Amino acid sequence: MTMVVCVTGATRGIGAATAERFVRDGATVFVAGRHADACSDTAARLGGIGPGTAIPLTLDVSDPASITDAFRTIFATTRRLDVLVNNAGIMPGGMLGTIDRATLDAALAVNASGAILCLQSAMRLMQRTKHGAIINVSSVLATHGVAGRTAYAASKAALEAATRAAAVECAPWGIRINAVAPGWIDTDLVADYSAAEQDVIRARVPIGRVGRPDEVAQVIAFLASDAASYVTGAILPVDGGYVP
Ligand code: NAP
Repeated sequence: MTMVVCVTGATRGIGAATAERFVRDGATVFVAGRHADACSDTAARLGGIGPGTAIPLTLDVSDPASITDAFRTIFATTRRLDVLVNNAGIMPGGMLGTIDRATLDAALAVNASGAILCLQSAMRLMQRTKHGAIINVSSVLATHGVAGRTAYAASKAALEAATRAAAVECAPWGIRINAVAPGWIDTDLVADYSAAEQDVIRARVPIGRVGRPDEVAQVIAFLASDAASYVTGAILPVDGGYVP
């Protein structure tokens, strides 16, 4: 049976690489994002790669109504969901003395509340078939302090806590819930890091280089697969050995 996967924030970066990985593995993949055109463009590109299928899906994870609509569309289209990759994320910066309530709310709305509501909707679909895997995309910053990232770090720490609690609740339904915690990965999210910031990070990465989105995607694919059938509630670093 063809695996049905939904990847949120799949239009760029780690999400696009993850969607591509599943399409290459033959899955039916919902390419979910907040801009319909971007989803269609990415799905068209991935569909050409094959052998799987890519389906564009409009989904703004900061909007609960959009989440409800998107998961209804998934059920109407494929009647089931095997894998959710909760990847959509934003990284608002700002030193603690300058961030405001709106910045904090935005980080939490997308990275924490949005991901948890997607997890809830996916769980409801997966309970019908009594199996599934959910992979949340956290960050090393959930556990390692870096100046200027308080809002982001708090949102990712919330997501990791939710991963562990939901894993316990969902295990009896045959649903595994894990997270990856990427370090420094070469995407638009970190494109504004200065050369000096890059040097500081590189010095803390024993592997000595920035990671590629596909290197996160293949760990996500492992956690989604039966090869990880006895893994749940885990937070797996994908960070080149980052030493804080
Ligand atoms: P990216 O290239 O900026 O991609 C982020 C994706 O999330 C985009 O597709 C974006 O869509 C989508 N998105 C943002 N807000 C959304 C919303 N409200 N609803 C739906 N989609 C939304 O970043 P990335 O590096 O691939 O990040 C992917 C995940 O990895 C994030 O959760 C991030 O926190 C995490 N991460 C990244 C790094 C790193 O070094 N790159 C390290 C640790 C963790 P639009 O095109 O519409 O903006």
